[in-house]
Amino acid sequence: MHVRELINLPTPDFSFDPSVPGACVTGVRPYRKGTFRLNYEQTSGRFIVHNYGHGGAGISLSWGCAAKVKDMVRQFLTTSPQTEAAVLGAGVMGLTAATMLLDLGLKIRIFSDRKLTDTTSFKAGGQWAVSVVETAMNQQDLKAIIKTSYTTFKDSIGKGFGVCERPNYCPKPADGLEMVLNLLPGLLPARRRLDRLPFQNHTQLGFLYQTLLIEPPIFLPRLKSDLEARGVTFVDKKFASKADIFATVPQKIIINCTGMGAKKLWNDTEMVGVRGYLAMLPAQPALQYLYSRNGYLFPRSDHVVIGGTTDRGKEDEDLNPAKCKELVDVIAAAFGQLAPVPMPIDHIDHPRNRRLVDPRLSVSD
Ligand SMILES: Cc1cc2nc3c(=O)[nH]c(=O)nc-3n(C[C@H](O)[C@H](O)[C@H](O)COP(=O)(O)OP(=O)(O)OC[C@H]3O[C@@H](n4cnc5c(N)ncnc54)[C@H](O)[C@@H]3O)c2cc1C
Repeated sequence: MHVRELINLPTPDFSFDPSVPGACVTGVRPYRKGTFRLNYEQTSGRFIVHNYGHGGAGISLSWGCAAKVKDMVRQFLTTSPQTEAAVLGAGVMGLTAATMLLDLGLKIRIFSDRKLTDTTSFKAGGQWAVSVVETAMNQQDLKAIIKTSYTTFKDSIGKGFGVCERPNYCPKPADGLEMVLNLLPGLLPARRRLDRLPFQNHTQLGFLYQTLLIEPPIFLPRLKSDLEARGVTFVDKKFASKADIFATVPQKIIINCTGMGAKKLWNDTEMVGVRGYLAMLPAQPALQYLYSRNGYLFPRSDHVVIGGTTDRGKEDEDLNPAKCKELVDVIAAAFGQLAPVPMPIDHIDHPRNRRLVDPRLSVSD
């Protein structure tokens, strides 16, 4: 559909002081080369389901992957009398997997070496999109994961999970949403083509998607408190090695959702962290849209989040206020609020990083 949009939406206030505590955030996407890991192994008397390596799309894919974890465990239980499971990791993959496993009547214990607020999941921006991730999974399974994830999030709108529907305005097709439109026609509302984006200083044509915004600071604590209310226990524990896991965890069923931690614990050399910075501006309730150009801008209820760096292979979480300021300046320039700024080399829209941004979903039929 081709639509002319004439009325401008509100321009963000790009005032930003990176020295304010909490204004600059950094996280490392648990990216796995070739494919995220969603399979099981039986070793040392344990049934271990791996669910890690989802790069920049862990929130987006979480519920669908959790449903697959549940399927694997359900199948295992047809030949095993186990009544308990251990979940390693309390990020979004661990919490959603634990939630689904409760449906099987299992007693669940979750182990984590980080507070919820320190997980990568808590720091994420929160758009529902399948980007900065790879999978070699068959097309049928991938479709099921995407569909379950999207519909579960959509069904939770208005129920206190911090999920809402939002338009996302983009000057170019958004790969992570185009892929879903092509793979599962009708799951997302149709994408519209605009003569121009409805913003000050925007004269070029663009695209309007309808997607979901998931606010991690609401979603994750809600998952955790629901789990606790259903009898799930949380244990602070840093595992040093696989041997340490087997020595410490008595449960025979283990769900491995350790994100970047899996690199060392499972000696997984395919894991490559992709660091990202986020600038957290004060909340601006008038902004009811997402915007993706020269990075991205996600107005949430707690902050206006501006992101867009992809440092492949950088796995430390050192804060870099100058980088956060740079993110804000690049996107402010797109709104005509600053003179144009050269695209930084670690920026998500820099040509060097296109391959990472394209979801290389090498699906097979
Ligand atoms: C800047 C940025 C923006 C992002 N934006 C989005 C977005 O808009 N949409 C989206 O879908 N995704 C986004 N992501 C990606 C998303 O955050 C990740 O894909 C997701 O958080 C991965 O979840 P996880 O549970 O696998 O990992 P984590 O959240 O990192 O959780 C891992 C858990 O394992 C535990 N653990 C690890 N090692 C050990 C150990 N040795 N012993 C004990 N416990 C251990 C940790 O304590 C933690 O509890 C973004 C990421 C970043 C960095």
